[in-house]
Amino acid sequence: DMKITRRPEWLQKKISPAAHADMERLLGDLRLHTVCQEAHCPNISECFRQRQATFLILGRLCTRLCSFCNVTKEAPEPVDPAEPGRVAGAVVRLGLRHVVITSPTRDDLPDGGAEHYATTVVAIRESAPETRIELLVPDFQGERASLAVVVAARPDIVGHNLETVPRLYHIRQGADYMRSLRVLATLRELAPDLPTKSGLMLGLGEEEGEVMEVLADLRRVGCAYLSLGQYLAPSKGHQPVERFVEPAEFEQYREKALTMGFAHVESGPYVRSSYHAEQYGSLNTSQ
Ligand code: SF4
Ligand code: SF4
Repeated sequence: DMKITRRPEWLQKKISPAAHADMERLLGDLRLHTVCQEAHCPNISECFRQRQATFLILGRLCTRLCSFCNVTKEAPEPVDPAEPGRVAGAVVRLGLRHVVITSPTRDDLPDGGAEHYATTVVAIRESAPETRIELLVPDFQGERASLAVVVAARPDIVGHNLETVPRLYHIRQGADYMRSLRVLATLRELAPDLPTKSGLMLGLGEEEGEVMEVLADLRRVGCAYLSLGQYLAPSKGHQPVERFVEPAEFEQYREKALTMGFAHVESGPYVRSSYHAEQYGSLNTSQ
């Protein structure tokens, strides 16, 4: 698809690698992976400067085949029991105020990696009790028991991204819209005080009405936090970008979402689910 060859001027952010060279060295020394680096996230300079990062646990290889994602799809690596301790060590050494932990989907593991998530939360909590811990979890094939293990570790926020509208779920091979929505509903049932978060990528061919229906679904399952960002194809071999959504449209979505009752919304071309993660403050009592 050669339709879109140039990014519009609002998507020309510069990365300044020198600004985070020390952080990259430390992550390399600790043999840790961040989504920030793996996904060549355009916000890396800004986030690292603000002492915020998203760690990728449970390896770098995924058992699913989403056509928009840059994670390598291969037979996954064995779970490293020392990884939670190393993540906790990195949180301390980097002085992170807010950490996001995510993983590829591990359909090969009986619990989908839920126990490993929980161990990671506990390890960070012990070493850095002030750091806010946000998890961005896979769907665990909808398994309630896995979600229960995760929430029992008492993270501060748990997110699960719907990524796109139901009509376009063919780009999330192996996932199911209703199952993902149920993941968010189940989290609320298991831990009514735990705020949940979800996100969508825009520019994949979705219509505004479809986006609004997804937002309504999210509110129905009590989702408090929302992120909306522009989809950017990691390479020519990935799902192509259909459209660059204008900054003003992102702002309109943000305002509408707030009217619908989301407690905090980040919406803009560069928004990723972990972008400005610290801004998703505490919930107001009406949630
Ligand atoms: Fe990392 Fe998320 Fe920031 Fe990107 S937006 S650099 S993935 S923390
Ligand atoms: Fe990427 Fe997640 Fe899809 Fe795996 S499940 S391919 S990590 S988006």
